Amino acid sequence: MKDLKGKVAVITGAASGFGRELAILCAGEGMQLVLADIDDKNLPGTVALLPPGAQSISVKCDVSKAESVDELAKQTYAKFGKAHLLFNNAGVSPVGPAWSATLADWQWTLGVNLMGVVHGIRSFVPRMLEQKDECHVVNTASVAGLISVPGSSVYCVTKHSVVTLSECLHYDLQLYKASVGVSVLCPAFVNTGIKDSDRNRPAELAGTNPLGKPFEQLMRKAVESGRISATDVARITLEGVKAGRFYILTHPKIKNSIEMRLQDILQDRVPTNMVPGPA
Ligand code: NAD
Repeated sequence: MKDLKGKVAVITGAASGFGRELAILCAGEGMQLVLADIDDKNLPGTVALLPPGAQSISVKCDVSKAESVDELAKQTYAKFGKAHLLFNNAGVSPVGPAWSATLADWQWTLGVNLMGVVHGIRSFVPRMLEQKDECHVVNTASVAGLISVPGSSVYCVTKHSVVTLSECLHYDLQLYKASVGVSVLCPAFVNTGIKDSDRNRPAELAGTNPLGKPFEQLMRKAVESGRISATDVARITLEGVKAGRFYILTHPKIKNSIEMRLQDILQDRVPTNMVPGPA
């Protein structure tokens, strides 16, 4: 999708981090925006950063709920009549060993990171297919969807799922000769609100991993020392969409770790851990 001007972008997780920066860049391209987040208090903060004259609506949406994402689609089509570029971007990141991750950790994270993307696809892709014009879906996974990271089993499960879901979606759309493209965004650590993702955790899914603390500190440090910014990620993502790239890797050095994982599999080795755990 080379020309974005006048088209409609829908962004989940638009109140912070990558979502906010994508909104600013998409508005700069002359797109109309649908900004969605469970944290509707911080959506006006995104709107305030858009260039003057940008057209947007803000919608409170919990991506883990199918009916909430369907309502987002209804509001999008009621306001703008179309959706061209969907960013299934909202995400959360609990940490801690696999055996002590709580059921609430699993339900919350699978709900937002995986089912959020599933709901986005189910609510928007059929409508995009009816539109019959050029559309594109960007699913935010992570390098944690391409390698396995100690202390991040719940997160990695969701992100590996988003990678394969995106690949399957791409194949399916090709089979149907659809004019809907797909990309999967796989960043490494970037300093965003992800280090405090518990802030939007619903009360009914409270109860974090009792062994999570040392991993939380490690993740905070890794995120805060991220070498590229959320603005860089948004820029690389839009460049990827325009160039028709499927895998959008924002941190090229991580390819060594991906290759190591694939070689471990192909050479029948036990997995080589390239990411340090807590001391
Ligand atoms: P962020 O916390 O700054 O932004 C995430 C946004 O998602 C927040 O505004 C939050 O309110 C929203 N959100 C949380 N639960 C929601 C729900 N149920 N419904 C709707 N919105 C919800 O973090 P970010 O880093 O910008 O994260 C964006 C995406 O990037 C996530 O999918 C994350 O997993 C992924 N990612 C982040 C990094 C990183 O290091 N920051 C690396 C790789 C992938």
